[in-house]
Amino acid sequence: MADPRKLFIKTYGCQMNVYDSERMAEAMGGAGYVETSTPEDADMILLNTCHIREKAAEKVYSELGRFKDLKAAKPDLKIGVAGCVAQAEGEEIMRRQPLVDLVVGPQSYHRLPEMEARTSNGSKVVDTDFPEEDKFEKLKKRPQAKRGPTAFLTVQEGCDKFCAFCVVPYTRGAEVSRPVSQVLTEAHDLVERGVREITLLGQNVNAYHGAHEGGDWSLATLIRALAKIDGLDRIRFTTSHPNDMDDDLIAAHGECDKLMPYLHLPVQSGSDRVLKAMNRKHTAESYLRLIERIRAARPDILLSGDFIVGFPGETEEDFADTMALVEAVRYGQCYSFKYSARPGTPAAERPLVDADAASDRLARLQALLTRQQREIQDEMVGREVGVLFERKGRIAGQMTGKSDYLHAVHVKGDVEVGELRRVRITESGPNSLGGVLV
Ligand code: SAM
Ligand code: SF4
Repeated sequence: MADPRKLFIKTYGCQMNVYDSERMAEAMGGAGYVETSTPEDADMILLNTCHIREKAAEKVYSELGRFKDLKAAKPDLKIGVAGCVAQAEGEEIMRRQPLVDLVVGPQSYHRLPEMEARTSNGSKVVDTDFPEEDKFEKLKKRPQAKRGPTAFLTVQEGCDKFCAFCVVPYTRGAEVSRPVSQVLTEAHDLVERGVREITLLGQNVNAYHGAHEGGDWSLATLIRALAKIDGLDRIRFTTSHPNDMDDDLIAAHGECDKLMPYLHLPVQSGSDRVLKAMNRKHTAESYLRLIERIRAARPDILLSGDFIVGFPGETEEDFADTMALVEAVRYGQCYSFKYSARPGTPAAERPLVDADAASDRLARLQALLTRQQREIQDEMVGREVGVLFERKGRIAGQMTGKSDYLHAVHVKGDVEVGELRRVRITESGPNSLGGVLV
């Protein structure tokens, strides 16, 4: 029998892309490919790209350039671009980089094996459709192999919110929820294969409204049903929009032990003027009231968020409002970005804030966020938390896992990958905690 062909996938951007890459690898498994961790070894290279900021797209082009020698040495090597850059740029990618054989958008990756077959005679293939068929239905069921203790599960895709800065509604399309039965089947399958923690994914995951006989299910209803699965110990979800955080989902955080005390709830800015210009449809005050209600339901919840600084029109006063909001919330972990104009979005037409001023604001915001993160980590010392162990640590005898609050925790001791154990936190480092098994 011929050796299987080898597929190298490099994933950029969000967790949804990580999930998509896994599914593409499985789809290509059906076409006789096995995954490899090095491009030099590969018969096919796939870059699963992100288009959220300009730098993300430029990184893809520079990475593609690096495959020139590989392609010269192995003319049969197939090079594909998937994900949101593929969706946004389509054929333009092949014009800019003729090495590329195929371009596949996020809604068409179930067609990847067939596209790959069409490239075998040297044809170039582009598919950036938003097809009628359900890609999740079309994809082969995940093979029954054992897997690690944590998994992502995409339950919702796309977005109808149209924030003025964001490409997601254009690259991922309109908001769609997967039917309840599909999600439950996939969750059961993951648990049978050793998964103990599932993170439900969606660009606006808390807007989930999955079809079910008798009426659509909300995210809270879905979480309560998942919590009944024996062997599934932890549930998380990301990313949420403040306007879709309904009372039932807030209540679930107080009632459901398996729902972990961590919530990523991006606000983007603390200035109402900027929030309005961003078309966020909430105010700083309404966000702060929401946080109060969430903390009333689950006082120890660790909050995370996203911020954009230097949005067109942002003044020093607006930025001071962002800093005040951060002080008021106290985040355990955050992502913050300098605004990047995305072609085709409403904000792309607006005059930019001075680049040095934007960089300076980002540095000040990040200093504050880092201080808060560190303080909250330091407060964990002396506490006992649940840790799900995921892998061996870098130091001999050390094991690493994630706490209920999503902190990386290292211990030395007798514990296996996949075990959920109580750990007393004994030290706090810059990006992780150390502890001892209880
Ligand atoms: N749906 C989520 C929400 O409503 O907050 C966010 C999804 S988006 C993929 C992830 C983050 O990227 C956003 O929260 C935002 O902070 C950042 N982002 C999106 N567009 C951006 C842009 N044009 N420039 C800088 N950051 C951007
Ligand atoms: Fe983008 Fe999130 Fe706004 Fe949708 S809600 S447009 S994904 S930032």
